[in-house]
Amino acid sequence: MNKQQDSGVFTIPARRCKRCGGLLTSEQAIKDGYGSCCLRKMRQEARAKEEAKNQCSLFDREEEQE
Ligand SMILES: [Zn+2]
Repeated sequence: MNKQQDSGVFTIPARRCKRCGGLLTSEQAIKDGYGSCCLRKMRQEARAKEEAKNQCSLFDREEEQE
């Protein structure tokens, strides 16, 4: 048994979430740079933005017709 195991301390790869600054330890989160909950939030925001854009263009078209 080596000294490292005796101390009960081990090193795992980790990084900070680019959005909330939270500690990320999962392989996928480290790859993405964001935590899974932040990724979900960003996806929701992107979808909401896309929907807003569609509503806007629909609105513009209606105005042109009048
Ligand atoms: Zn986050």
